[in-house]
Amino acid sequence: MRKRYDHDYISILAGGVCPIGCKFCVGNSIRKKEKPHFASMEKIKIFLELFKDRTRSLSISGSTSDPLFVDNFQEVVEIAKKDFKIALHTCAKDKLRYINTKSFYRICISLHEYPDEKTIDFIKKNKSKVRISTVYHNGNKKILDDLSFFDKVPAISFTIRKNIFNPVTPKFIKKLKRTGRKIFNQQEYMYKDKKIVVWDFADANKYINARYLWPDGNIRRQCYWYNLHKI
Ligand code: SF4
Repeated sequence: MRKRYDHDYISILAGGVCPIGCKFCVGNSIRKKEKPHFASMEKIKIFLELFKDRTRSLSISGSTSDPLFVDNFQEVVEIAKKDFKIALHTCAKDKLRYINTKSFYRICISLHEYPDEKTIDFIKKNKSKVRISTVYHNGNKKILDDLSFFDKVPAISFTIRKNIFNPVTPKFIKKLKRTGRKIFNQQEYMYKDKKIVVWDFADANKYINARYLWPDGNIRRQCYWYNLHKI
């Protein structure tokens, strides 16, 4: 009999400094000068044990830092994959070639401009797993609105996130067809062979039941942006 789960997913978050230092990083204002890290292994094991019968989905993600910069990243993946299917969320494009893609059912890459050749190759090789996550902002809205971003990035799955500081609806949606599907109440659109979900954090979070293990060892209902911006 299929198990019933009462959580949509759980998440382990990376904290500390991030060597990439993107200007738009949501973690900028709360970043501490610490090595990239997760909560302690002991806390991680307790967290996984607590929720292994309550969801099958684990995301390994970050906000002040990126999970691929954490030393024990692989150790955490090996422990977690026994009971969970894992989605990796990363901005660290130069590290992608070192990961074992078989460990993940989804690889969500944050990309806010046209990718380089190595990233394009990675996306092509892992098309069925890759999802591109992009914040719609003044610096990239032109290439999103004229759809050239979607033409140049060879992925088939995209999440375009409204800027939490300025959550305007992207203009490009007028050019696209709705698929009729919604994910956490967020509308999915179709462009050629690509599925594009336009994501409003404040709205989506009303529909998500998740738990996040913060790098300080606390389990919270929300990731950083919610705590920071009290939306
Ligand atoms: S790579 Fe990710 S975690 Fe690091 S600064 Fe950029 S957005 Fe923030």
